[in-house]
Amino acid sequence: MEEFRPIEKGRVGMFVCGQTVYDDAHLGHAKNYINFDIIARWIRHLGYDLTYAQSITDVDDKIIARAAEKGMEPIELAREYEKRFFDDMQKLGVKENVSRYLRSHDYIENIKKQIQLLLDKGYAYPIEQDIYYDVSKFRDYTKLSGMKLDELEKHRIEPKEGKRNPYDFALWKGAKKGEPSWEIELEIEGKKSNFAGRPGWHIEDTAMTWAVFGEQYDVHGGAKELIFPHHTNEIAQAEAAFGKKPFVRYWIHSGVLTIKGQKMSKSLKNFITIRDVLSKFDPEALRVFVASTQYSNEISYDENLMKEAEKKMHYLYSSISAFYNLKTTAGKSKSGMDAIIAKFGKDFENAMNDNFNTPLALSKLIEVAGYLRAAAEMSASITKEEKDNAMEVVKECSGILGVLGKETYKSALPEEAEKLIKERDRLRKEKKFKEADAIRERLKNEFRIGIDDSDFGTIWHYI
Ligand SMILES: [Zn+2]
Repeated sequence: MEEFRPIEKGRVGMFVCGQTVYDDAHLGHAKNYINFDIIARWIRHLGYDLTYAQSITDVDDKIIARAAEKGMEPIELAREYEKRFFDDMQKLGVKENVSRYLRSHDYIENIKKQIQLLLDKGYAYPIEQDIYYDVSKFRDYTKLSGMKLDELEKHRIEPKEGKRNPYDFALWKGAKKGEPSWEIELEIEGKKSNFAGRPGWHIEDTAMTWAVFGEQYDVHGGAKELIFPHHTNEIAQAEAAFGKKPFVRYWIHSGVLTIKGQKMSKSLKNFITIRDVLSKFDPEALRVFVASTQYSNEISYDENLMKEAEKKMHYLYSSISAFYNLKTTAGKSKSGMDAIIAKFGKDFENAMNDNFNTPLALSKLIEVAGYLRAAAEMSASITKEEKDNAMEVVKECSGILGVLGKETYKSALPEEAEKLIKERDRLRKEKKFKEADAIRERLKNEFRIGIDDSDFGTIWHYI
């Protein structure tokens, strides 16, 4: 554990590798962006002035290939999927917290400037219309990944005649017919020439962050599989071009999401888009599901786990609703609620400050919801001040995780519905399941109230 110290007191610059917009975003993307959304919310909660930037890769091999398949212009395809991506992020409650989305198309000039710096300092060389980065010139190349140089060979290496080292990577790719391209002027050994082509993937991000944050910044995030080669190459580019170390103070890497332990892929037919999940589940349920695992760990997705997450969400809503609608009393309080809430606030904060331990923070939220629910069930005597304080703290903490955002909890459970729920509980205890199910139907049809049977007892929620 180390203390977080940004470059400039009170301000934080954070960049997260964003979407390559050639297809709909999938559940793995949802996990990644929700992880960083919670981190961004927490950094802001601590009082930092956070600028959170995310890239949108809109020039890429996959975009070009997909556009050709569909008979579209690459940029047309990219804009269409960008729109769908933003729509997904909006629904997940992520989009509003990103300060700036940066498109590769808008940073060609910075990319050119950075390539020129690398050429001037002897880190880059041309092969025809391509420009490559000479990895052997950068001493700390494997410091982020901790890999040995011979391990690098196990990874996919782009073959190209004339490369000085097998792991050298493209900063600029020469134009090919039918592909989008730009013409940039570069000076090599005193001679100016034009290079028609498009940027390599790694240079986009360092050119963008250079424009937004300068030569060094605080936090860079992304999925673990980007450590090598992507983030490794970003460090090599930026530290070589600017001559300043470290390029980034804190690297935060999120764990992958698998489907029942298997990697998600179209060929295995286990590819689940965010849209698929949101057609069945509430976005907040997905956030509870993601928060149930610490960001750096792997999640194995399973629809049953998602249903459990949904029950937790319903439990939070029904508990807070019961408490919110509890009548307050005048005079001195004997409920002890203030102490419970103070402890909860502290526990939640400690969990989040411990490397964003969201599963612990979430369990504290569920625990405090249990106290609120019990207070309501016992009609505890609560003063207005106590209630307002509890609501404020609980709302603030749940807002970090991105749950309890809807105001449905303000509607109290109708008295008749409450009676029916109790009646159903009694019938179930007597194993009169048919009669109990009839009540469940009535609640659904007459009150638009759904019922979950869970570890927390009977939970109700508005449908
Ligand atoms: Zn990136």
